[in-house]
Amino acid sequence: MQNDIKYVLVSEEKIDEINNRLGALISKDYQGKQLLVVGLLKGCVPFMSDLCKKITIPMEVEYMSVSSYHGNISSSGDVKIKKDLDISVKDRDILIVEDIVDTGQTLKTITELLKYRGARSVEVATLIDKPEGRVVDFKPKYVGTTIPKEFVVGYGLDYNELYRNLPYIGVLKEEIYNK
Ligand code: 5GP
Repeated sequence: MQNDIKYVLVSEEKIDEINNRLGALISKDYQGKQLLVVGLLKGCVPFMSDLCKKITIPMEVEYMSVSSYHGNISSSGDVKIKKDLDISVKDRDILIVEDIVDTGQTLKTITELLKYRGARSVEVATLIDKPEGRVVDFKPKYVGTTIPKEFVVGYGLDYNELYRNLPYIGVLKEEIYNK
């Protein structure tokens, strides 16, 4: 698996720093609010788990599953909800946790949907932002780190469902997806 990685972009140490920083910030910003953290499956899982352990205020957890990639390396822009929330979001302060923001279409769509359903506030925490990829106007409030327009895997991010278990974020060698 390691042989398929061209180079490491975000190391395990850097990921730890990000989780500590964002966890402290979110705990401060949501003090006294009824925080509902919504993870977007499957990519959010390692980030969601590590980030939530750094949030020191009461919070609830829910998951949604959405897709826009369909096993390719560029977003289709067609956002599908594969698993919806099990609870009402009315008057809730929602923090969506996502692995990566690229075109912005997934998060813009889900943010607007949850606001339409009556959430009091909807913000996004993403481990990685690729601002050069944006095709819609969308700015996540909490960003772990910004990277260039590269296709990355690891720490929840996959290529054809593989590499999610790498403990760091790395750039996949082109020969893997040009096979
Ligand atoms: P967006 O709607 O912002 O274009 O895409 C968000 C989704 O695209 C992410 O949840 C993720 O599944 C996928 N994605 C975007 N960039 C990458 C990348 O570099 N690597 C991987 N593995 N997935 C990506």
